[in-house]
Amino acid sequence: MPLRQPTYANHRDEKSGIFPLDRFDLPRRGPPEWRAMQDENDRYMGYAIREAQRAMESGEVPVGCVIVHEGELIAKAHNQREMLQDPTAHAEILAITAAAARLGSWRLENTRLYVTLEPCAMCAGAIILARIPEVYFGAYDPKAGCCGTLMNLLEDPRFNHQPAVFPGLRSEECGALLTTFFRNIREQQRNGGDGV
Ligand SMILES: [Zn+2]
Repeated sequence: MPLRQPTYANHRDEKSGIFPLDRFDLPRRGPPEWRAMQDENDRYMGYAIREAQRAMESGEVPVGCVIVHEGELIAKAHNQREMLQDPTAHAEILAITAAAARLGSWRLENTRLYVTLEPCAMCAGAIILARIPEVYFGAYDPKAGCCGTLMNLLEDPRFNHQPAVFPGLRSEECGALLTTFFRNIREQQRNGGDGV
């Protein structure tokens, strides 16, 4: 049987319904094959983090996403809600559209999606519709996360497709970007209010 990393379903804390904070550190203590996979996942999440930084630089909520197909990076995108004035312009949606165009197929088979923030209901829906087999996310989203926090749409067996979810990958870096972004906004608002 091929080695599989622990998934959300395997490691959910039964009481709280969510992962313990070090949930994604588990494979690091595992066999070398797991550690190699972990290095690869860290690298791909790094590209997503870079996308999130680009979002921040253009005044968008810093969320970035990349899609990998059979070891090749085929799409990267960041949140563009403000620039496009489009409530659906989340990083995942833009990346999924780009990946489908690249593959010439709406079925994103043999792909992995990496996103810095837990997908919302809309993006989780798009991930299911695109038949993406594996989803890796960084920070949990307590207000809109639908891959474990508010609900877990991706691993609901009632849907005809259930991607495996790997949460908390480089979560501190992903979360720090968001924290910095919103702190800056609050400071700007305060300064603006003081007439500075
Ligand atoms: Zn979303």
